[in-house]
Amino acid sequence: MNEQDLLQLDKQHLWHPYAAMDSDMPMYAVERADGVMITLKNGQRLIDGMSSWWAALHGYNHPALNQAAAAQLAKMSHIMFGGFTHDPAGELAQRLVKLLPAGLDKIFFADSGSVAVEVAMKMALQYQQAKGEGKRGKFATIRAGYHGDTWHAMSVCDPVTGMHQLFSACLPVQYFLPQPQTAFGKPWNEQDMQPLRDLLARHGEEIAGLILEPVVQGAGGMYFYSPRYLENARALCDQYGVLLIFDEIATGFGRTGKLFATEYTAITPDIICLGKALTGGYLTLSATVTTQTVAQTICNGEAQCFMHGPTFMGNPLACAIACASIDLLLASDWQTKVRHIERQLKAELAPAARFKSVREVRVLGAIGVLEMKEPVNIARLQPEFVAKGIWLRPFGRLVYIMPPFIITTEQLSRLTGGLLAVIRDVYHESSC
Ligand code: PMP
Repeated sequence: MNEQDLLQLDKQHLWHPYAAMDSDMPMYAVERADGVMITLKNGQRLIDGMSSWWAALHGYNHPALNQAAAAQLAKMSHIMFGGFTHDPAGELAQRLVKLLPAGLDKIFFADSGSVAVEVAMKMALQYQQAKGEGKRGKFATIRAGYHGDTWHAMSVCDPVTGMHQLFSACLPVQYFLPQPQTAFGKPWNEQDMQPLRDLLARHGEEIAGLILEPVVQGAGGMYFYSPRYLENARALCDQYGVLLIFDEIATGFGRTGKLFATEYTAITPDIICLGKALTGGYLTLSATVTTQTVAQTICNGEAQCFMHGPTFMGNPLACAIACASIDLLLASDWQTKVRHIERQLKAELAPAARFKSVREVRVLGAIGVLEMKEPVNIARLQPEFVAKGIWLRPFGRLVYIMPPFIITTEQLSRLTGGLLAVIRDVYHESSC
């Protein structure tokens, strides 16, 4: 299809994420993507700075992942998981159990990150009911979090930047705690625990689980906080019989510099959610993983089973690609690569800290963030990035780079250089 016809059809019929149907936001027709390069239908080539929202670790069109997909396609793309099991699910389970903190070994495969969060929350509720704690119907979380767009996932997203106002008449009301003030790498301030301590002392008996994005809050604010918060939260959850749920859908598979952000701590959550980079960004697949204790308790409860079972559960094609993606990651020297990206992002984004339009520059692992003082005008910035041959997609006050790990030093410099040049131009920053 030619570019103009596609753009016309798109405008007429297609929704895009968080967009108006008749939006005049810029839209680009993509033809293909290879490695770190995205090729538009008009022939223009862009360096990818987004990894398609935390997912495409190895870049696009990777021969090993293509090969895994083709091999599995030749056997079966999908088969129902009720009553059947298959190699890709078994092999993926084997890999995940080996990689995750000890004790997390009961896996529920679902189809997206949001569903993984729904599953985690349902697990927590069924676990509490089975223990005779049916009055625990609420969840606690911290502000500025993001856990997905489905109903209960939405209820634990930040109440201001999330979608609470629109849906407040029917969203479950949860307990929101302030964001931990101790930023990652800063001296720990014990005061950060007081709100959780107070909440549990007053309402602990109503709370089934505490759900957190460990260390890195993603779409809710791209904020990096102290792992000590998580360690203290673990102790408090134990004291009050609350399950601790880590949403590692964005942070999993090396993005923060550890394979899982949980590894910045000495603790293990009761439930962990994985998604996004699980398949190297090839297909949608998520995993909600819990402990023997939680799983057994659920199965001893009234229902005698866990009440969830999506049509595409354990999709063999997605599982086969996930196995290949994990093998590729482990066979690469990803720690060195991510450390290198981190050093380069720190060095090359540092000048932006002096821009009057920028509130803070933050870098952790392969994540580089400019938090602006005011919300950015995407319609204004995006064409400027594209004109510079780079693909970045800001939101709110955040302009950020999360490249595929295979990016070269030179490509990353083009991303950081292009980003800073656009900010200088658009915000009339003096060159420094
Ligand atoms: N949790 C976190 C931390 C996320 O970043 C996201 C996606 N941005 C989700 C959950 C929801 O995942 P999905 O978009 O696959 O439903």
